[in-house]
Formats: sequence, structure tokens, C-alpha cells
Amino acid sequence: MRNVSIQKVGLIADLLGAAGVVSHDTHSAETGKYYEDSKRWLTAEVNAGVEGLLAAGVGEVLVIDAHEPGAIHFESLHPSATLLHGRPLLRKQMLDPLWECDAVALIGQHARAGTRDGNQSQTLVREIDAITLNGRPLGESTLVALWAGVGGVPVFFLSGDEAACREIHHDIPGITTCAVKRGISAGAEITLSAPAARKHINRTIQAAVQSYLRSPIPPLQWQGPFRLEIRWKSTQDADTAEHQSGCERLDDKTVCFHSSNLLDVLNQHHRPDSRSSRPAAEPLHPAVRRNGIGVPA
Ligand SMILES: [Zn+2]
Repeated sequence: MRNVSIQKVGLIADLLGAAGVVSHDTHSAETGKYYEDSKRWLTAEVNAGVEGLLAAGVGEVLVIDAHEPGAIHFESLHPSATLLHGRPLLRKQMLDPLWECDAVALIGQHARAGTRDGNQSQTLVREIDAITLNGRPLGESTLVALWAGVGGVPVFFLSGDEAACREIHHDIPGITTCAVKRGISAGAEITLSAPAARKHINRTIQAAVQSYLRSPIPPLQWQGPFRLEIRWKSTQDADTAEHQSGCERLDDKTVCFHSSNLLDVLNQHHRPDSRSSRPAAEPLHPAVRRNGIGVPA
């Protein structure tokens, strides 16, 4: 039987779901006018989470920077936290360290692609229209939870926009969530003030630890075999993805992978650099331009 205690927490930090980080072009993209400000806001939310975890008796927090161009303002990071960051980073390099933790929390999370009221909703990269795993819609937070679940580690807390909270409640009943904003559209939100968001996270994550110790949430584990489908927004991206080993083309924009091993299919969300297959006039997400690797972004 699993020992119910939380000594070490893996804290996944994404940028898009932080209060005030409202737009891809101006805030969360590396070229955005408010990108550096956004990193400070997100880091302050992470620090509020770290403070809350320590106050609740957690001994160690590993922060994992999951935003492709970087979510953490390094100098501002809580002195008691350690940080996994930098690129390039294989998905296993980013997420396997969660298996050395007792539990996982996500801060700054956004909803999956195609969520109308999800501010900056996307799944891994903006070129993906939808991902399903065994027919169930798959967003980044659930992907992280499934990966952690392979190592028997549960996700017990998430903060982000309301749509991200709703999404994870569907896949992980009993999880504690903390909404810091409500999406109006992909580029608009109603948000708490920065101090209010931090206070909300600090209090809610402490309550999440107490709730978990009273009533532990099981690791997220879905039954195989596994079938992962990725629908791209363009036929060109599907053309490129089709070159991956083990990939099956289903229709104009959809590719598919099969495996009895969950990690095999969860590793298949990337594609080779597709610059040559793309019209020159179409703007590319900086992360895709750089290396084409779809890590949680
Ligand atoms: Zn993301």
C-alpha cells in the first residue's frame, strides 16, 4: 500500500494559465512585448505555491518549466525550490523526474485546443487541432497526469483558468483546483489581480495537501492497448507527421499511433521540423520554428 505522505512535490509550471498572461502574441510568445513580465507573474504564482507547500509540511519542491520558450524568471524563483529547465528537452527528460516525487501539482495551466472559453487554449503546439487517446480528448494536464501515473505518482492540484480546472476535474475527480482567471476568448480574460491570484494559490494548495492526506487521489492510469490520434490544422503538418516511424495516416489531417505501452504513444506528439512544408507567409510558433518538438508549451 502506498505510504500517504508528501515529502517531495513536482511542480509543473506553464505560462499561459497565469493571471494576466492573456495573449499568445503579446505575453506568452518569446517575442511578446510582455513576455518577460509574464514570466515574473507566473514565477510569483509558482513561489506562492511553493510557500503553501512548505507551510503544509512538504519538504522539497522541484519546479519543472514546461513552457517551450521558458516560463520561469530565474532570479525570482523561491530560494527553497530547485528548477528543471532549458531546451532542447525530451519529454522523458522533462517528465520522468516526476516519478521521484510523491505527488504532482500544476500551476499556470491552460485548457486543451478547441476549448472556446479557454484562454490561449492549445495542446502542445498551436498547429494541433485535437488529440485523443483511446477516443478520449487529451490535454496537456491529463498527459502529465498519465505520465506521472506510470510511475504511480498522482496529480493533486492544478491552477490556471476556469476551463483548465474544468478539464482536469473531468479526468481526475477529487483533484483540488484553483482558478485565477476566466477565459473570454483565446486572447481575452477576466482575471484576479496578481496579489489576489497568488494568495488564492497559496491558500488552495495548502488545502489541497491536507485534503490529499485525508483522502489520497489515486494515480491516473488508463487501460491499454493505446491508440493516440492527432488531428492537425493543416494537411501539410499531417504530411510531415506521417513520416514518423509507426505513424498511420487516417485522413487528410489526422495521424494515429498504436502501442501497448502508454509512454510510446505519449512520446508521439512531436514532428520533424516542418519549415520546408509550410507556406513562407504563415507565421510559426517560435517553439515550432526552433525545433519542432511538442513539449507542453
Ligand atoms: Zn501548455
